[in-house]
Amino acid sequence: RAKDEGGSSYHFYTLAMNEQVRHRLEVEGHLRHALERNELEVYYQPIVNTVTRQVSGVEALLRWHSETLGAIGPDTFIPIAEQTGIINDIGDWVLTTGARQIADINRRLGLSLKLAVNVSPRQFRNNSIVASVLKVLESGIDPSMLEIEITEGVLLGNHPETLALLAELKQMGIDLSMDDFGTGYSSLSYLKNLPFDRIKVDRSFIRDIETDKEDLALVKAAIMMASGLGLEVIGEGVESEPQYRVLADIGCDYIQGYLFSQPVDAQAFEAYLRLQMTT
Ligand code: C2E
Ligand code: MG
Ligand code: MG
Ligand code: MG
Repeated sequence: RAKDEGGSSYHFYTLAMNEQVRHRLEVEGHLRHALERNELEVYYQPIVNTVTRQVSGVEALLRWHSETLGAIGPDTFIPIAEQTGIINDIGDWVLTTGARQIADINRRLGLSLKLAVNVSPRQFRNNSIVASVLKVLESGIDPSMLEIEITEGVLLGNHPETLALLAELKQMGIDLSMDDFGTGYSSLSYLKNLPFDRIKVDRSFIRDIETDKEDLALVKAAIMMASGLGLEVIGEGVESEPQYRVLADIGCDYIQGYLFSQPVDAQAFEAYLRLQMTT
């Protein structure tokens, strides 16, 4: 009897696995053609100075609308792009497209917004990130307009080459920020040894910051530590005015979240900026 149950649950498990694998392969197959089929789009979310409430920068967030599969979120397709290596082409496209669109917007509106782009571990492994950045700089974009966001995943394993690449990017004049700060394991030593400019405190610490004393204590500590290291702090996922107030009170430099805007396409982002400038 126990054997039967074991057998049937094993059987169930393989079916579920097969379904998962099948879905993955399907997504992967379509993802390979997403670029050439123009199914990808860069969305933009403003990063706002906490004191002045002015937009100072923008994060590029990739969107995929597959003709066959519909809308698929980055949390689903970025890991697949990463594992298959497709991320190198996609990442290059995000950086090039984002830099061009934000440079155009900056020129039209007389602004100097900084563009932050998320970069995956794989883009460091074969130098593709440096090649992409060089290409963008050759197109006439000022390096001070660019910022690269990495998570601790990029640093895991402590590849000396990765550290060298980060230093190289820094020397080219590009800012670096540590994304999803607080969710990994070795943030502190990384911050001490690497040339970061900013940390982005993960949304999970912001969500209950008005009521949860522990979250508040952690975010305060992160801000104190950052200030001691000469880093700026961005609070991620700010959805309400009270969350904004708490973060402003404890000295968080920048805020990003639905309170100001969801990520939107380039045209809507420009319209948003125009509206901010007239009010
Ligand atoms: P992330 O870099 O930490 O980006 C922040 C995520 O939080 C985004 O999710 C954004 O839409 C969401 N968000 C922003 N404000 C709020 C808020 O107030 N409330 C809530 N609930 N969510 C908010 P998204 O766009 O789904 O992206 C998820 C992750 O996918 C990103 O996390 C990033 O790690 C990755 N990603 C997105 N675009 C790219 C890309 O071009 N390249 C790479 N390598 N990764 C990317
Ligand atoms: Mg990010
Ligand atoms: Mg984040
Ligand atoms: Mg994230």
